Parts: sequence; structure tokens; C-alpha cells
Amino acid sequence: MSSKYEVVIGLEVHVQMTTKTKIFCGCSTEFGAEPNSHTCPVCLGLPGALPVLNKQAVEYAIRTGVATGCQIAPKSVFDRKNYFYPDLPKGYQISQFGLPICEHGHLDIETEQGGKKRVGITRIHMEEDAGKSMHGDRPGTESYSFVDLNRACTPLVEVVSEPEMSSAEEAVAYMKALHQIVVYLGVCDGNMDQGSFRCDANVSVRPWGQKELGTRAELKNINSFRFVKQAIEYEVERQIDLIEDGGKVVQETRLYDSVKGTTRSMRGKEEAHDYRYFPDPDLVPLVVSEDWVARVKSELPELPQAKRLRFAEQLGLSEYDADVLSSERALAEYFDALVALHNEPKICANWIMGEILGALKEKGQGIESCPVSPERLAGMLARIKDGTISGKIAKTVFQHLWESEKSADAIIEEQGLKQVTDTGAIEAIIDEIVAANMDQVEQFRAGKDKVLGFFVGQVMKASKGKANPGAVNKLLMQKLKG
Ligand code: ADP
Ligand code: MG
Ligand code: ZN
Repeated sequence: MSSKYEVVIGLEVHVQMTTKTKIFCGCSTEFGAEPNSHTCPVCLGLPGALPVLNKQAVEYAIRTGVATGCQIAPKSVFDRKNYFYPDLPKGYQISQFGLPICEHGHLDIETEQGGKKRVGITRIHMEEDAGKSMHGDRPGTESYSFVDLNRACTPLVEVVSEPEMSSAEEAVAYMKALHQIVVYLGVCDGNMDQGSFRCDANVSVRPWGQKELGTRAELKNINSFRFVKQAIEYEVERQIDLIEDGGKVVQETRLYDSVKGTTRSMRGKEEAHDYRYFPDPDLVPLVVSEDWVARVKSELPELPQAKRLRFAEQLGLSEYDADVLSSERALAEYFDALVALHNEPKICANWIMGEILGALKEKGQGIESCPVSPERLAGMLARIKDGTISGKIAKTVFQHLWESEKSADAIIEEQGLKQVTDTGAIEAIIDEIVAANMDQVEQFRAGKDKVLGFFVGQVMKASKGKANPGAVNKLLMQKLKG
């Protein structure tokens, strides 16, 4: 790629909110129901039906705004965005235009090439989603199109960034950071396959040093991190090639083709006046009190970035461990709960990231369905710490913790897994093994230190792993040196 050009990217991310019902009616937002079964006169756009704003959707929009450092508008307005499309039964979409609910926020990202960076959030506004058109999705219906209005009127927040990202990598980092936050907040289920989190990427290039932004293309409806990266990279190259060949980028809406990995023109870019925005006379202005905002602020959970920092700086985890353990709210909460019971953060992190995540991955499950509670795991860690069991035997205990509901103590007792620290018992085993392997004893005495490992192995095996390794080592040295 030519370095003569600076890349400029701004993202518009559509976040579907997790409210049980739609934004202006009481219909269910459940995904995957029989087409058009979750509809009513309001979301079907029947004449005379009136919208009523869902309070929970407002709560979620405020939460998203507060978590991204936005100012929450004391008064915001719903507007009609007029356009005609089969999946938009009213002939307009209710959105917010001039007075959105949140403005002037930011998101901090970090990339390998660009380092740390703060990306401005211009605005976050609330709107309703459109329905879905499906083209010949049943056998024999190839020449028909169907409209499913279950999704019509489901609540969205659209998060609009400043044109401040300068690579596909930064755009992906931004999208991931935002995704993590809205899922943490419980505002969005984060399911990108179902379209709960999708973005339009605005991309332009300009010669380095040029003040004005280049003409942008808007890449529509991208629903995976990988596709965002591919689509932007392709588009940047296309624009640079075009300019280098003496052409001009035209402002347009383009569609990303994930199969070909290319973008293609869909339509000329519409301007705001094309939509004939005007305030929706069926909805009064939305007034949000300072108290409401203050309450949401006070209830905000610790966000992933703050968690990551705390794990690394206060609990001494490596950057990598802090990253993994803060990536998901439930995982971070599990870790915090475990550390509260067993104050050895690194050891806790190792067990979670090794045994727990490993076992869950094998089952294809998340931390929510982990059969070993922090309490039971902490019970086992305490027995490692006080020397009742060795780290090796602990893996066996963990297996039983996973498969039963018993406590570590009960398992250790029942299975006879207590570590043998009684030197008499260990000495007896050592004597037997030394006597049976005199050749190796000679080798050791002749200076072949490695043979020690052989003896340790034999003793551990004979004790079924229960001999205290420290004691074994010490006693063996004494015996072998003779
Ligand atoms: P719309 O696309 O709905 O007309 P805006 O004009 O407000 O809305 O722009 C939307 C997005 O496009 C924002 O994220 C903004 O940062 C980004 N954007 C605007 N101009 C450019 C540009 N020249 N290059 C890249 N991104 C841009
Ligand atoms: Mg746009
Ligand atoms: Zn409805």
C-alpha cells in the first residue's frame, strides 16, 4: 500500500439493545420467531397507531453514553427519517437527528502499530430498527421476496465516531472495545451473527498534510470484526489506485461482499436533506433528569479497561492474563470472587486460565455454566497452600471437583489423596528403590547428576504421586550421597 496517503475512518455502529419489548410498542424482541408473529398495529405502521417510548431503552442509551464519557442531553427529540423500503412499513424510521440523547464522548483503544489512542464519539442516538426482506428463501419461491417485520421497531442505539481512525486495525480495535463495553453493560447481547452489533464504515484517503478530508465511501452493514478489517483494507486500496490512476472517489454507499472480499457500489450517498427529517409529532421530547443520569452513573459496573488495569497493576497479573480475565464480565467476576477467597492472584489466574477455561472449552461452554464455584476451587487452593496436597495431585482433585458437587476436603479424604510428608514412610520407599537400582546409584556417585530425576520419578510413582516432592528430594540426596 502506498504511504503517500493518510487513511481516515469513521464508524457508525448499530447496537441492538436487550430490552424484552420493542422501543415503541409491547411486542417481544425475541430473535428467530415465526415471521411476523411479533407484530402489532404500531410496529406494522397501521394508520392511527401511536408509539409509546420504552423507558428501559432510554435507561440503556443513558448507560451507554455515561460509559463512553458522553454528555447526556437534558432534552432530546425523536425525528422521522423518511425513506421508502419494503421493510419499513411506516415509510419513515423514528430516529434522533438534531438533538440526540448523548454527545461528545470517547473510547480509548490500543493497537500494535498505532499504540494508545483516544477516538472521539460524536453522538449516540436512539432509533428503531427496520424489518427484514428475504428473497426467495423457501424452495420454489426464487422469484418472490418476503418481508418479516419481527425486527421492525426493535430498539437500537447508533454510536457515531469522529473520523479519527487511521487504519483498519484501529477500526477493529474500536469496534472490539465498544462491543466489550456494551456487552459488559448488559445493553447488548453482542451476538454479531444475529446482527445485534453491526457497523457502517466510512472510509476516505487524503495526501499527507492535506487539511480537508477526502471524499468518503460508506461501507454498509458489516457484522464481523474480520469483515470490517477486510472491507476497509480493500476499500483503501481501491481508492488509492483510483486516485493514482487520475480518477476521483465519488461519495457513495458501497456493499461489502464477504465471499469475494471486495466492495461494490450500491447507490449514490444520500444527504441528510434527502430524508426530510422532522420531529415526530406523535412523540413528546424526551426529558432526562440530572438525578436519572446520576443514578445510572452510580450503578455503572467497573468497565473492562479499568478491570484490566486493576488486575495488572494492583494484583500483579501479566498484561496477557489481565487481558483475558477482563475480556468478559462473568469471567472477571469469577476471578474477583476467587481472589477474595484465596488471596494469591497469580495462582488463581493460572487455575482459571488453565484448568477451568480448558475444561469449559472442551465442552463448548462459557464461565456461566462452570460446575466448579469459586468457593469450591478456593477450598482446593487452600489445601495446596497448606501442603495437604501437591500441585500435581491437585489436578486429580480438580477432576473430581468438576464431576461431583463435593468439597475439595471431602474428595481428598475419600480418595486418600493427602500428601505424604511423614519422612519415615518416604524413607521406606526410597530405601526399597535405591536397593533395587544400585547401578543407577553408582552412576550418580560417579557424578551423573541427572540420575536424580530418575529416582525422584520412581519414588513419586511408588507413592502414587502423594509423596511431598520437597521431602523426596531432600531425603534422596542424603541417601544417594551415602
Ligand atoms: P451520515 O453517514 O449518516 O450522512 P455523517 O455525515 O454524520 O452521517 O457521518 C457519519 C460517519 O462518517 C461518522 O462516523 C464520521 O466520522 C464519518 N465521516 C464523515 N466524513 C468522513 C470522511 N471524509 N472520511 C471518513 N469518515 C468520515
Ligand atoms: Mg451513515
Ligand atoms: Zn409491535
